[in-house]
Amino acid sequence: MSDKQNLFNKVWDLHTVGTLPSGLDQLFVGLHLIHEVTSPQAFEMLRERGLKVLAPERTVATVDHIVPTDVQSRPFNDMLAEQMMSAIEKNCQEFGVTLMDLKDSRQGIVHAVGPEQGLTQPGMTIACGDSHTSTHGAFGTIAFGIGTSQVAYVLSTQTLAMSRPKVRRVVVNGELAPSVFAKDVILYIIRKLGVKGGIGYAYEFAGEVFDRMTMEERMTVCNMSIEGGARCGYINPDQTTVDYLEGRPFAPKGEEFDKAAQWWLSLASGEDAEFDDEVVFNAADIEPTVTWGINPGQSVGINENIPAVSAFPQEEQVGVQEALEFMELEAEQSMNGVKIDVAFIGSCTNGRISDLREAATIVKGHKVADGVKALVVPGSQLIAKQAEKEGLDKIFIDAGFEWREAGCSMCLAMNPDKLKGREMCASSSNRNFKGRQGSPTGRTLLMSPAMVAAAAIRGEVTDVREFSAVPA
Ligand code: SF4
Repeated sequence: MSDKQNLFNKVWDLHTVGTLPSGLDQLFVGLHLIHEVTSPQAFEMLRERGLKVLAPERTVATVDHIVPTDVQSRPFNDMLAEQMMSAIEKNCQEFGVTLMDLKDSRQGIVHAVGPEQGLTQPGMTIACGDSHTSTHGAFGTIAFGIGTSQVAYVLSTQTLAMSRPKVRRVVVNGELAPSVFAKDVILYIIRKLGVKGGIGYAYEFAGEVFDRMTMEERMTVCNMSIEGGARCGYINPDQTTVDYLEGRPFAPKGEEFDKAAQWWLSLASGEDAEFDDEVVFNAADIEPTVTWGINPGQSVGINENIPAVSAFPQEEQVGVQEALEFMELEAEQSMNGVKIDVAFIGSCTNGRISDLREAATIVKGHKVADGVKALVVPGSQLIAKQAEKEGLDKIFIDAGFEWREAGCSMCLAMNPDKLKGREMCASSSNRNFKGRQGSPTGRTLLMSPAMVAAAAIRGEVTDVREFSAVPA
């Protein structure tokens, strides 16, 4: 491996099995994560062709998207959800794949479970039939969201045909101000580079801000790289990565762990590594951020106003106007004080224990505003258990939040947790597209979990820094 190679190209080369006549590289997939929504058809394709799962030991399943987060008794009320659940149970049993189902204490959102169990390790290639597979890049993996037919391809060949993207280094140096979180950093990056800015690229996130982040914060950042158009995003493995993985159930043990750690660290892009592009941002410019539109790039710092329509490039102005009309917001207005109906803390972006701790710190000693429905949905059963051990559930419940079981919940509302009508939702999830949260006319404001907590208490979008935090 050359000193000039960045991590992405090192890992890509190590996993390239060959080049196909189409010109695409065929990559070996180290870990294939599956869930109940994008796998049933893929298994059907295998059956139709009489194929087996080539590497069941490299395939792990969990259930998350359709899981109800309140009443989980079977059969589910939603028959489609019940069919998907039955299908993954049957498929995993028949094809010999490990399934973390609702009875398994390891169950949770696929992108919470992989890292939590130590399945996600630096230098791997990871594929999963969910767009936010980029989350795993926080560990120095290259991790791709794939479609259903690609899920069948990976199940049967343990490889994936792809064209190699270019690599852009996205550097954020300096210090973040208090109450500016990983979510604010990635929303800021997407706003600056655009939701299509990353097309054709993998993003390497580098610099002092990412170096200082915990693994959970790094996961939040990498999770949303695809919202900036990048094929994936990653952060170089370092001691923080190694410390997080030590002792995890699927991580190597003893001497094997030390050897693995040495190899993981050797993969990091060195000082001489070359990139196809580089952009540099200053951490001091980042404020608590909130979206005002219908894509994650349409955001502002809490103390800025929504820009004038004329401030956008001409080709974007019609889309901006459409976003403002849908959201019932005005150009040049402040987001501070915009009323909300629902507050959602959860998802694979921000449903981790550190997110719940940060939100609980804001919530403690306060009450959810009248008329606001507020819910907290842990990313996994283990996160829920840890939060309950720390008494975070009580803090949320005392304040008037609903404390739910693990699942994707209102991130995409393929389960009973949905917005109704024109409801406005302060959400810690990753997408604010029209209809994303279950109502075709529902409206989503993306922000950090701490900002969601503050909005829930005030009943309107609020600068979280106005709250005197009480340690949870
Ligand atoms: S929480 Fe949302 S983005 Fe994450 S896996 Fe579930 S549906 Fe996909």
